[in-house]
Amino acid sequence: MKYIKNYIGGQLVNPQSGNYIDNYDPSRGRVYAQIPDSEKSDIDSAVAAAEAAFPAWSGMSKSERSDIMIKAADLIEARMDEFAAAESLDNGKPVSLATHVDIPRAVSNFKFFATAILHFAAESHHMENLGINYTLRKPIGVVGCISPWNLPLYLFTWKIAPALAAGNCVVAKPSEITPMTAFMLSEICIEAGMPAGVLNIVHGLGHKVGDAMTRDPKIKAISFTGGTKTGETIAKIAAPMFKKLSLELGGKNPNIIFADCDFKQALSTTLRSSFANQGQICLCGSRIFIERPIYEKFRDAFVEKVSKTKVSYPTDPEAKLGALVSKPHLEKVMSYIDLAKEEGGSVLTGGTQVHLEGEYKDGYYLRPTVIEGLAFDCRTNQEEIFGPVVTITPFDTEEEVLAMANSTEYGLSATVWTEHLTRAHRVADQLHSGIVWVNSWLVRDLRTPFGGVKNSGVGREGGFEALRFFTEPKNVFIKSH
Ligand code: NAD
Repeated sequence: MKYIKNYIGGQLVNPQSGNYIDNYDPSRGRVYAQIPDSEKSDIDSAVAAAEAAFPAWSGMSKSERSDIMIKAADLIEARMDEFAAAESLDNGKPVSLATHVDIPRAVSNFKFFATAILHFAAESHHMENLGINYTLRKPIGVVGCISPWNLPLYLFTWKIAPALAAGNCVVAKPSEITPMTAFMLSEICIEAGMPAGVLNIVHGLGHKVGDAMTRDPKIKAISFTGGTKTGETIAKIAAPMFKKLSLELGGKNPNIIFADCDFKQALSTTLRSSFANQGQICLCGSRIFIERPIYEKFRDAFVEKVSKTKVSYPTDPEAKLGALVSKPHLEKVMSYIDLAKEEGGSVLTGGTQVHLEGEYKDGYYLRPTVIEGLAFDCRTNQEEIFGPVVTITPFDTEEEVLAMANSTEYGLSATVWTEHLTRAHRVADQLHSGIVWVNSWLVRDLRTPFGGVKNSGVGREGGFEALRFFTEPKNVFIKSH
């Protein structure tokens, strides 16, 4: 049995309590590793290590910091297969997905922010006959990063990399459901020569470790990705201390398909945007709206493709979907399928567990599920399910589909399929969401602002937005006349 360790002050250490939590392999439904059940005392040590490391790290030149981060990226890249296998085992996702998406993106996150910081400039404002203002962008100090289980290393590094590049020292907590690649990252940091205490990774439960981070007054900013309820809890505790907060929360994204779309493209991308990573991506389009003239044609072609999509163990090279991340999550997703039926929906395909054979017989597999016949405002269509379940709904007019699309409490992303140029602009403009993809999905340029509106979050990550979040502007005025 592998024991994961905390990474504090440059050392791999056991939790102070000596207690551990079971870590499951969702593809087999079995415990395969132990995670530190850390507590406030571990966070206290991590914060002390980060505080001690801050003067030297923030005083180092940007290019020296950049070099260390690039080295870490190269080391992850060199161990790509090992990282992808670990991510897949921990999360249940197909190895092919971890190899092509998760781990390459973790490498890019480090490379992107290690180089972005070299181009990050602040403004100056000249006042004629008076003087000049210039703005410094100073690192904040000790910052906290808390991430979820769906894209474990991908989202963990998406927060840590800009924080480090900007000169902060970090206390970070990965999800207790998928801690393995964060543990491997601690080994990488040691190998890359990251000074002790610059990055500290503390494993454990949200209500213990995450809560201790949120309450610690020495942690001056928190970047959090996870559920909307957890974001609310963090905001309630952190706001009275005036911590800087970036909250990337849940979604219930619409996928709007107009009759004039490129049918083939819309169909194949919708298959991905519905079920990639078992539907466990905050950007998946879980509500599909189809314009009436192509409703039946699209529905039938989509259902046929979905019913042929292979659900299998993660190392099966043909697996399109692997296992859901945990038993409680599988049960939650299945409870939504029951709810959909109670609300009058018909399951067109899926709706049941997949029982594989042999060592995978206890894994958490679910058929990709398509439901029709639901009102746009029922609970199934309003609440985040975060699994391989989509609903399909016909619409007649642009106004109608915009009203349905914008009806939820969320506003993370949206997809629009149309060949009509002005309609694409008009609809994109009127959608209440932070990100809109037209005739595409999940095309990511790391320079663009990433985040949601309404209950999908506060603040933006990505590009210079992230570097602005992780720095404090200080304006200096120099009188010249
Ligand atoms: P979660 O909110 O349960 O947990 C996220 C992280 O917060 C974990 O590390 C957890 O341990 C920690 N946590 C839990 N309780 C805490 C507390 N009281 N104080 C501090 N930290 C606490 O979310 P999850 O189930 O891991 O992830 C799924 C959710 O994440 C979905 O809602 C999904 O939409 C969202 N998500 C959003 C984005 C985005 O960019 N907007 C990306 C991925 C996932």
